[in-house]
Amino acid sequence: MITAYHHPEFAAPIGDHVMPMRKFALVAKGLESMAGVRVEEPFPATPVELARVHTQTYIDAVRTGTPRALAESQKFPWSPALFPSVCLTNGACICAARRALRDGVSCAVASGFHHAHADHGEGFCTFNGLIVAAEAMLKEGGAKRVAILDLDLHYGNGTASLAAVRPWITALSIYGNDYHENVAYRDVSVSRHQDGANRFSATLPAGCDGKELLQTLEQNLPNLLKLGIPELILYQAGADPLRDDPYSPLDLGHEDLRERDRKVFAFARERGIPIAWVLAGGYARDVEKIVAVHLNTFEAARMVF
Ligand SMILES: [Zn+2]
Repeated sequence: MITAYHHPEFAAPIGDHVMPMRKFALVAKGLESMAGVRVEEPFPATPVELARVHTQTYIDAVRTGTPRALAESQKFPWSPALFPSVCLTNGACICAARRALRDGVSCAVASGFHHAHADHGEGFCTFNGLIVAAEAMLKEGGAKRVAILDLDLHYGNGTASLAAVRPWITALSIYGNDYHENVAYRDVSVSRHQDGANRFSATLPAGCDGKELLQTLEQNLPNLLKLGIPELILYQAGADPLRDDPYSPLDLGHEDLRERDRKVFAFARERGIPIAWVLAGGYARDVEKIVAVHLNTFEAARMVF
């Protein structure tokens, strides 16, 4: 049985935004009829859990709306509902990580927020749920080494910046759009970031197909083990590499992304490493296509676990 964490108040009311907030509810609805998956409500992340990762000035800005530029640095219009919703989505990441340590696998039906930095947000990411969950598991004693695998279309720049000061984390981002200082770049032949001792990245060139994606995965997944076998893998399963996505220069279909997910789950399971995943990205005009990618990730997990 796979436990997935979802809450109806995940979606802050941000109006008609490029980020389709209703997809989370649609994925949760799709799970109702899926055998082997159970949906539970998460606890919200606590102020202490957030403050291990983010500065108090930034947390207070998101909570109060002041200063407004900082409260909206992630590019969402601020409202009083924003803070409770991001506490819930980050809480879901923590609950999924904790559950994965017990059951081997779990999912937060929320974004991972891989562009969020310690002192500001970027690219629709307010607080970095991946690092918040990793810190929570370190403090709870569940995992002393955590690997973060980011297969969103965009480079996980926030996660990398937060991993830089956490040598117990290994971060790997395989991307088709670079992301730097709140701007996305489609040309991945120019790198705008530097990898480090525990931060790895690999590019997917324009037109990349399923075969090339799987090859790149095979070559790079071992980086997750390079600094020691992790006791937990957090996996950001982005929906935006899909060829139907307006930001994606890649030639990847639903089958390719399901195979990607299957490979990732098999990598974890074969090594006995617990894995928790989060949803991310996905801007296709037809929201059903985004939902299908996320539901396929569940299918892949059911196949492997
Ligand atoms: Zn993305």
